[in-house]
Amino acid sequence: MNQLSDRINNLSTSATLAMAAKARELRQEGKDIIGLSLGEPDFNTPDFVKEAAIQAINDNYNSYSPVDGYVELKQAIITKFKRDNNLHYTLPQIVVSTGAKQSLANIAQVLINKGDEVILPCPYWVSYADMVKLADGVPVEVQTSIENDFKITPEQLEKAITPKTKMIWYSSPCNPSGSVYSKNELRGLADVLQKYPNIIVVSDEIYEHINFVSKHVSMAEFPDMFDRTVTVNGVSKAFAMTGWRIGYIGAPDYIARACNKMQGQVTSGANCIAQMAVVTALNEPPSRIQYMVNEFKERRSLILKLLNAVHGFKTNEPEGAFYVFPDVSYFFGKTLRGKLIENAADFSLYLLEEALVATVSGESFGDPNCIRISYAASQEQITEAIKRIGEAVS
Ligand code: PMP
Ligand code: GLU
Repeated sequence: MNQLSDRINNLSTSATLAMAAKARELRQEGKDIIGLSLGEPDFNTPDFVKEAAIQAINDNYNSYSPVDGYVELKQAIITKFKRDNNLHYTLPQIVVSTGAKQSLANIAQVLINKGDEVILPCPYWVSYADMVKLADGVPVEVQTSIENDFKITPEQLEKAITPKTKMIWYSSPCNPSGSVYSKNELRGLADVLQKYPNIIVVSDEIYEHINFVSKHVSMAEFPDMFDRTVTVNGVSKAFAMTGWRIGYIGAPDYIARACNKMQGQVTSGANCIAQMAVVTALNEPPSRIQYMVNEFKERRSLILKLLNAVHGFKTNEPEGAFYVFPDVSYFFGKTLRGKLIENAADFSLYLLEEALVATVSGESFGDPNCIRISYAASQEQITEAIKRIGEAVS
């Protein structure tokens, strides 16, 4: 018997979380799996943040917080937006949520009407398309290419726009490609959007600090885009706080108010102890977390050097985040150790079974030629993983 709603029956399982669960299962069976599937820093949360959480417990932070977050935290977010992004938000424009994932889900629910189109430059983060569908919207995928560093051009954006276009969602630095849009590139997209004043931009900046090439640029920094952009951010990546579940937005007042209303019926305010720890995290300058960024940069060089030596992997140089997104279509149609590889899903599964390395297939990011490899793992693990992959495909 299946009494489940069409809504859930039609929803895909998150590919990143599914692969992480599968890797966990195999590990429990005693297999020595190297997990390069989940986008999760392998560092500990910094001590100064942990201490703030302990202090919050001892100070009896145990009640419901305001639905949109403690004023102290919203104030810290406003200061952070000013300091790091030159964005000038006010208190009613900030909403704190249970992870940036909830921030994004709120945005979909409060802005999309049935049939509204949301432009998703491919590859996009795995949950965007399903969040849009869950809100009865239509994801409109725009293909990019590895040659163009997986970035959408203004011409491509303009071509994808129809009278039904409601929003464009993108992340920069991008999960899964690691691409970073420069100021000029964003301005080029903004220039197109000038002709379509009703389209809202959702700029997911959760990897802003993990940028190896340039100062991060926010779409909302352009004065003509501020009133139509939702800036999404969180502490999962920058402060190695994935499990603490705090994300936030800066948005036009009416959108922030709507997200607050949605959250008030669905979850209430985010965890109060985590919120207080994040006040401390955000009040510190980004230099406090530079050691993690430096380490990611070294790992990027290492994994690119190793992968480029494996025949059949086509890579570009990602400029941020902690992923490489190689094109593996060379292997499609080939038989490896008696197994026919028809697509990226087969290839990713093959790597799991034969190399004991967990990656994520590109299909669920909207690019069926690639796989995502996270390098949020130690240099020893990365070296061993690529060695095993090399053996499995040789
Ligand atoms: N956006 C992007 C691009 C991500 O990679 C993630 C993954 N964690 C999220 C949003 C959600 O982050 P969280 O819910 O942990 O804040
Ligand atoms: N964002 C991370 C990833 O892409 C975590 C998993 C998830 O939230 O889906 O792997």
